[in-house]
Amino acid sequence: MTSMDAAVLHGVNDLRVESVPAPDRPGPDDVLIAIRTVGLCGSDVHYWHEGRIGPYVVTNPIILGHECAGEVVEVGEQVRHLRAGDRVAIEPGVPCRHCRYCVTGRYNLCREMRFFATPPIDGALAQLVAHPADLSFKLPDSMTYEEGAMLEPLSVGIYACRRAGVQPGKSVLILGVGPVGLLCLLAAQAAGATQIFAIDVKDDRLTTAVELGATGAFRADDSGVHDALRAVTNGEGPDIVLECSGAPPAVRQSVDLVRPGGTVVWVGMGPESFEFPTLTIGIKELEVKGLFRYAHTWPTAIDLIASGRIDVKPLVTHRFPLIEVVQAFELTRTGAEGTIKAVVTLPA
Ligand SMILES: [Zn+2]
Ligand SMILES: [Zn+2]
Repeated sequence: MTSMDAAVLHGVNDLRVESVPAPDRPGPDDVLIAIRTVGLCGSDVHYWHEGRIGPYVVTNPIILGHECAGEVVEVGEQVRHLRAGDRVAIEPGVPCRHCRYCVTGRYNLCREMRFFATPPIDGALAQLVAHPADLSFKLPDSMTYEEGAMLEPLSVGIYACRRAGVQPGKSVLILGVGPVGLLCLLAAQAAGATQIFAIDVKDDRLTTAVELGATGAFRADDSGVHDALRAVTNGEGPDIVLECSGAPPAVRQSVDLVRPGGTVVWVGMGPESFEFPTLTIGIKELEVKGLFRYAHTWPTAIDLIASGRIDVKPLVTHRFPLIEVVQAFELTRTGAEGTIKAVVTLPA
């Protein structure tokens, strides 16, 4: 194949399915993958609608999409653990592997990271992708490509729980139960959290959170939420808050609602700066942690799904062929029709 179809973003609100050059033969340590399923993510929609995320600006045409799985069609000469026909999920960030962050295991902080669909790096909404073999994870026969594509957002949930120290018996509050918040919920459950609370502005999302196992759900504008949470946590508040919305009122709430001595992880990305009750962190002696993507999560995520400990299938609510990618983006943007995760499928 010398050319292939791909979803290319040319500028704000200008996403086109068009023919682009296909990747060459894989390098010695790479594999060539025929993409089968790509999940759409808030960041893809943000580039489409705003043309930028913080310092990353779309200046040249770029292929979007980073939550993906597909079939290996060719392997490089050094690759031993994969062969043509294997079904794989892709970890979409390629770090430099040499800097202090890479060699100490925190490769998600690598300054040289080449991450799918982050300008100027092309993403996965394409028929073919060449990728390092060690960042391509073989899927068990029991797992679908859709589940494979969900490993990327599930990775955020797993990594958030690791950063927060979620353990058996902990109580966890999740602020914002969109796709990432819901996957944090599933990861916290698998990690042994016994009480998991959800707060959101949308009732249908709260309903989904309860269906997935949240032990309590509250509307963000409910003035009684503080008291209600204390009433079910020995008068203290939850041990851990995972803030997944990025919305300034929720970020402020994260430190207000957590118990003294508790841990807050900011998973969601919001505005660059806003007014914030800094004194609360000192007085309550909180641990407040940032989070950027994930590291070392794919094997764990595969085990959790393959063993039945986590079921991501209910989160995939809509499917579109590549040619209808703009509809998929629009649905993800509005969240209409009960959308949790929309995926784009590419036929074999
Ligand atoms: Zn994503
Ligand atoms: Zn590095």
